[in-house]
Amino acid sequence: MSPTEALARLRTDLGPIDHSTDTRKLRSKSRDRFAQSPVLRDLLRGRNAEIFIAPRSKQELRTAVAACARHRIPITVRGAGSGQFGQGVPLSGGAVIDVTALAGVVGWHGDRGRQLPRTVRALTGTVVADIDAAIRPSGWELRMHPSTAQQATIGGYIAGGHAGIGSCQWGILRDTGNITALEVMTVEEHPRLIELRGRDVNTVHHAYGANGIITEVELPVSPAWEWHELVISFPEFEQAARFSVDICHSDGVLKKVVSPHAHPLPQYFPDLAGLIPDGQAMVLLMAAVQSVPNVEDLVHANGGQIRYRCLEGKGSYGAPLYEFTWGHSMMHYQRRNKKLIGLLALYPQEDLYASILRVHREFGELGPLHLEMKRIDGGLSCQGSPVFEFESQEQLAAITEQLQRAGLFIANTHTPVLGASGMKPWGPKEAAFKREFDPYGLLAQGKADDVVVEDTVSTSTALPNSGWSYRLSN
Ligand SMILES: Cc1cc2nc3c(=O)[nH]c(=O)nc-3n(C[C@H](O)[C@H](O)[C@H](O)COP(=O)(O)OP(=O)(O)OC[C@H]3O[C@@H](n4cnc5c(N)ncnc54)[C@H](O)[C@@H]3O)c2cc1C
Repeated sequence: MSPTEALARLRTDLGPIDHSTDTRKLRSKSRDRFAQSPVLRDLLRGRNAEIFIAPRSKQELRTAVAACARHRIPITVRGAGSGQFGQGVPLSGGAVIDVTALAGVVGWHGDRGRQLPRTVRALTGTVVADIDAAIRPSGWELRMHPSTAQQATIGGYIAGGHAGIGSCQWGILRDTGNITALEVMTVEEHPRLIELRGRDVNTVHHAYGANGIITEVELPVSPAWEWHELVISFPEFEQAARFSVDICHSDGVLKKVVSPHAHPLPQYFPDLAGLIPDGQAMVLLMAAVQSVPNVEDLVHANGGQIRYRCLEGKGSYGAPLYEFTWGHSMMHYQRRNKKLIGLLALYPQEDLYASILRVHREFGELGPLHLEMKRIDGGLSCQGSPVFEFESQEQLAAITEQLQRAGLFIANTHTPVLGASGMKPWGPKEAAFKREFDPYGLLAQGKADDVVVEDTVSTSTALPNSGWSYRLSN
């Protein structure tokens, strides 16, 4: 059967399920936020799906998936399309299946009467912030969320994301206990729903939708404290870094985000720049109200000054403070200068402060440091790199090697290919899941190692990448 014939048959099988082959729609629904990367900007432009499908329920999703399996149509699943690495771009045409209509909190496990929930369960297309909005009145919230919480879907976060606001306290998504369960749909003529728990959840987490379609997500919750946003200045970046490490090592201090930015980066945020004296470094922080006195002590001990403080979301800067941290920071920097980029470097846990200082001093010429503090594998680390102007892929490769020699583990965020990224190991277990859940190899073609559709993508985005290290027991 020719591809055109297969597509025509798919459309017939879809019946009343919302779908479109309108070119403009296909173009907009085939991209995510990959344009943040100059490497991906040219490479992925113009790679479009041939059909857009928007099921309104799990049953419609099942019908659409069954039809794609029958006619061997490649599938790219789509949430809000806020992934930054081109994970959501269909590399070999086929169908983009938008799951944003499968939304809503479906379960609240625990003893509600005594305000003791254990987990919250939501359909894949639920906007992350909507989950918090649903459970906060009971005094609970998600342990962590991306800085895109107001737009991103929970399924997209689990399939394409990694960590975020809350990770300085709770670790990253793949740390044991941070994802309770996933319900996953297989891609077969008769799609099955499979419940994953325990270690199996990490096989599908951050797999870019290559080994199963997530339909429901169950996550642990934590107390919803009264969070305060603080904008803090330090005369020198060394002090900002020392404070950031100190506060993260203070286990009794309840915090949600610790985001240091060296001079002149604070000046790249028009809405924050007026709060920080020119020439100084900045730390953006969220802390629970009862921990603010401890924060004040640590700020003063490190020579800093709190320049602004407010309740979460009430800042004069017009957005939640977390929308200036994590992936949002680069978005703001690029508004100032489109050429600016960074690398996703993970810092060694031993001598964390010393290694931050070493990079700050040795790479100071290259550009100012932006970091996000996070726990990973039970220890404190941080991620980030100098922010510099992109010149060429050769320059990127050379800087990657230099940072690796300085002891950092670099993930390649300028590729949509999992194996080339190094953020998540794609091992035998991931491949076995793919064989079972996606026997025809239709999901996320070209993004998992064992389905090489497009050699050009992995070769033209390759960097000398050492990958991130995780505990063997994970
Ligand atoms: C400004 C900015 C800030 C960001 N900050 C963070 C951050 O703090 N932390 C972080 O981890 N990430 C961050 N990201 C990356 C991204 O926003 C998150 O990963 C986000 O949660 C993705 O959700 P989404 O709904 O937009 O997913 P999409 O972009 O639609 O999808 C992401 C990936 O998951 C797959 N996918 C989507 N839904 C499903 C499903 N149901 N089943 C299987 N696969 C699926 C897609 O095919 C794609 O590969 C940021 C991105 C931007 C642009």
